[in-house]
Amino acid sequence: MSLAEIKERIAAAEAQSNRASGTARLIAVSKVQPPARIEAVLQQGHRIYGENRVQEAQGKWPAWKDSYEGVELHLLGPLQTNKARAALELFDVLHTLDRPKLANTFARLAQETGTCPPMFVQVNTGEEPQKAGVLPADVDAFVADCRAMDLPILGLMCIPPVDEEPALHFSLLAKMAERNGLERLSMGMSADYELAVRLGATDVRVGSAIFGARTTIG
Ligand SMILES: *Cc1c(COP(=O)(O)O)cnc(C)c1O
Repeated sequence: MSLAEIKERIAAAEAQSNRASGTARLIAVSKVQPPARIEAVLQQGHRIYGENRVQEAQGKWPAWKDSYEGVELHLLGPLQTNKARAALELFDVLHTLDRPKLANTFARLAQETGTCPPMFVQVNTGEEPQKAGVLPADVDAFVADCRAMDLPILGLMCIPPVDEEPALHFSLLAKMAERNGLERLSMGMSADYELAVRLGATDVRVGSAIFGARTTIG
C-alpha cells in the first residue's frame, strides 16, 4: 500500500471518531527493510521512523539523520540496560520503558548528560509471560515512580496478543492512560492501525503495510 493511502486511511479513521486531523502520527517501522525501500519513503518526505534494535539502527540512521532534515527516530523494541546510553544518543522517543531497572538507568543517565528522550511505558496488556511490559495492575505505581524520578513520560504503549481481539487491549490501554493523565497512546500496527486510531491511538507503528513484507524476523 502506498504511504499516501495509509495516511488517507488514518485521516478517515480520525474523522470517523471526531478527532482533529493530524492527531495520530504515523511511525514508519523500518526494521530489517532494505535501505533502498527506506530511502524511497524518506524521499517522499516522511520523517518519523521506528526501529526495534539499537545496533541495527546505529548502522543506518546516523547518515540519514545527517542527510534528511527533521528525522524523528523511535525505539520500539526491548532495551537492555547496557544499551540505554546508546539509545539515548540515537533515538528521539523510546516506546519500551518496561521495568524499574531501566527507569533507574535513565534517571542516572539524565543526571549525568542533562538529557533524556521522552518515553512511553510499555504495558503487557495480555499478561503474556514471554512479552515485555509492565503488568496492568502495576502501571499506576510504575508511572508515579517514573515521574518521581523526573523521567519525561509521554504515554503508554502496547502490543496485543496475536490471537486476541486488539480492540479490548486498545481500550484498556486508553483507560489506563487517561486515569494517569497521560495523553499519548502508542498502539496499532499494519493489521489494525485504523481500529487503533478510532480507539484513541496518537502513535501508530506501521511496518509491512508501508514497506512490504519483511524477509527476516525483526
Ligand atoms: C515490527 C513492529 C511493528 C510493525 O509491525 P507491522 O505488522 O509490520 O506493521 C510495530 N510495533 C512493534 C513493536 C514492532 O516490533
